[in-house]
Amino acid sequence: MVLPKDISMVLERLESRGHSAYVVGGCVRDSLLGRQPADYDVATDAKPDEIISAFEGYHIYTSGIKHGTVSVVINGAPVEITTFRVDGDYSDRRRPDSVRFTDRIEEDLSRRDFTVNAMAYRPDGGIIDPFGGREDLKRGIIRAVGDPATRFGEDALRILRALRFASRYGWSLDKDTSDAVHELKGLLSDISAERIRDELCGIITGECMRILTEYSDVICGIIPELAPCVGFEQHTKYHDKTVYGHTAAAVCAAENNVIMRLTMLLHDIGKPDTFFMKDGVGHFYGHADVSVEKAREILNRLRFPNKVKDKVLFLIRHHGTVMQDSPKYFRRAAAKYGEEGFFELIKVHIYDNMGKAKEYVWEAEQFRTMEKHAREFFAAEPALSLKSLAVSGGDMITLGYKGSEIGRALDFLLRSAADGNCENSKPALLKYLKENFGKDREN
Ligand code: ATP
Ligand code: MG
Repeated sequence: MVLPKDISMVLERLESRGHSAYVVGGCVRDSLLGRQPADYDVATDAKPDEIISAFEGYHIYTSGIKHGTVSVVINGAPVEITTFRVDGDYSDRRRPDSVRFTDRIEEDLSRRDFTVNAMAYRPDGGIIDPFGGREDLKRGIIRAVGDPATRFGEDALRILRALRFASRYGWSLDKDTSDAVHELKGLLSDISAERIRDELCGIITGECMRILTEYSDVICGIIPELAPCVGFEQHTKYHDKTVYGHTAAAVCAAENNVIMRLTMLLHDIGKPDTFFMKDGVGHFYGHADVSVEKAREILNRLRFPNKVKDKVLFLIRHHGTVMQDSPKYFRRAAAKYGEEGFFELIKVHIYDNMGKAKEYVWEAEQFRTMEKHAREFFAAEPALSLKSLAVSGGDMITLGYKGSEIGRALDFLLRSAADGNCENSKPALLKYLKENFGKDREN
């Protein structure tokens, strides 16, 4: 294992003062996997005040000192150094009531969640691996340290962490750990919305097919609105999977970012409510609007930032829009959705079609071709936007428009220019506005 220079310096500095010091947890796991660790955590038998005195002259943060963590800023980056500790009782199932410091690294490792996260390393001592983490890592298994039910009972967030790590690496859960996940998922009601949100994002932005399928009960525990989708047959030739099965396939087909994956996770959540059968065929008219309303509630409840929420709701609202592979439509769609929004919507159509029955997956190819045509089109003729429109809000105000009317007048002109009904020049737009917008005006 090759450590960054700054981290080696931290270990050497602590050891030169007679302490023992290791890198621990995620960085050991990721190094063994040949992945670049996100950061390096250091564990030591030095007590917090000893850590502070070892790094005299450095900028130090002590907000985690109650749990034994001191952050030392080295070359602009904080390094977390934590005293070996064992946790006390978890009466709130979230945080230990107290922590006790210890001199033994093995004890510190025993409080950690999974075997692959419970390894430590130091250059002259090799890897400390008391729970068989290396073996589990080789086999791709997430296994709780100790009794899984006890460990999930202490801190229910570990239930989702297990799924997140399994999804990230495309691994499975050990049988006992898996059984405890199913059995104890109800404990997640003790966990804050923000922490659930972060784990959910981690789960869906991985190789998550197996996790979404095998742990649909846990996913529906955090998003109960998905429960009716599980096992819901669609009765249409386009689908060979249930609503939930299609959802999982569409999530996994999507590019790996939170916006796209959340969009696909929630895009059909309104289907069960809008389902009806006609002549032996299932229909879901208006399901996108119902999906939007349900998704809004879910995203609010899980405290997603407005930026994420607005984008996801926009994509869900229009996920079933009929599109055309023609310049006329491209101009119009870019005026309506914005150029970026339009291309994102095409992608959503691609992912949605990739979740359909084999006989219809080729439709995704049509949207890929359309995307290519649209890119070529806008490279030659930049999309019209409110910015490139030859009139502005100021012009509307000069004409006497007020309040929301200003935006509506500009949108009207943008659509008209995009449709080719009117040239994008100030005199032409103002003339067109005078002659045509009056019909739309309410006052
Ligand atoms: P990531 O790559 O996502 O940062 P990580 O393993 O570093 O993964 P962190 O949340 O940064 O995860 O935690 C660092 C280490 O602390 C973990 O590897 C694990 O040993 C321990 N740990 C973190 N959260 C818990 C928990 N809820 N219960 C027990 N141990 C935990
Ligand atoms: Mg980490």
